[in-house]
Amino acid sequence: MTDFRSGFVALAGRPNVGKSTLLNALVGQKLSIVTPPPQTTRHRRIWLSNLPGAQMACVDTPGRHHGPRRALNRAMTRAAAAALGDADLVLLVVEALKWTDEDELALSRVRHAERSVVAVVNKVDRVRPRERLLPYLASLAARHAFGAVVPISALKSDNLEDLRRVIVAALPLGEAMFPLDQLTDRTVAFRIAETIREKLTLELVEELPYGIAVEVEQIEVEDDGRKAVSAVIWVDRPGQKPIVIGADGSRLKRVGRAARLELNRLLGERLHLTLWVKVREDWADDVRALRQLGME
Ligand code: GDP
Ligand code: MG
Repeated sequence: MTDFRSGFVALAGRPNVGKSTLLNALVGQKLSIVTPPPQTTRHRRIWLSNLPGAQMACVDTPGRHHGPRRALNRAMTRAAAAALGDADLVLLVVEALKWTDEDELALSRVRHAERSVVAVVNKVDRVRPRERLLPYLASLAARHAFGAVVPISALKSDNLEDLRRVIVAALPLGEAMFPLDQLTDRTVAFRIAETIREKLTLELVEELPYGIAVEVEQIEVEDDGRKAVSAVIWVDRPGQKPIVIGADGSRLKRVGRAARLELNRLLGERLHLTLWVKVREDWADDVRALRQLGME
């Protein structure tokens, strides 16, 4: 008999409460990017955290978007709902001393999913003096039968050990779901696309075109054993192409180089990476295109 525990943990909560920051802190490695542009947490990703005696698979539910009702937004909303439905435990992340309509909405979705829920009160580093937190914690506890209410600071890694203990105790007994050295259940192609996308996002910060997508078209093994990867950066409009490429291709080169270096490290092998920028008119409205990109 083993008392190993393992299960899925979904992070829910309104935008900006610190879900991505918490995820990074919990997994102990920067895997999901934390950047200002909205559309960065698009795919449903699973990050594994292997603890002594337990394995948790964390899911960062993609944000919900209010903009025009495009196919992309609907796909993201569905991905978020699926993540909640599959979870053994939901962490509802809120911001210390704040409760907004969006928090209320997040809570009602979590209630609807009928999972055990732990309330994580983030950003307590901002609360001075700390006693001001007590009435807030009490009023939060009154909103739902949370398994626990845990104050933390994801940014300062404050009280994360407590949170881990609470999470592990709430997971079902069972063997590890994934090999213990595995970082994610996604394919190599997905990791490559995500890394390119991350580098692109960091390059473009303010200019990131809406609906940009990265797709790995081909992975070939060359004679010298190196993997040759060719990937396409899809943009919505012809005018966005020069933004992504940059003067004399400088930006695309930087993105390619940064992505290649990180991937070499991540995958433990040396890649040869070729990037293309192509225009797909209105792809965000095209459900079939989303399916090809793994969004449905
Ligand atoms: P998400 O939208 O819920 O994923 O939130 P993010 O993780 O992207 O965080 C939103 C903002 O809150 C970022 O500027 C973070 O640096 C900040 N933040 C996250 N956690 C903390 C925390 O514990 N304390 C403080 N002061 N800021 C935090
Ligand atoms: Mg996020």
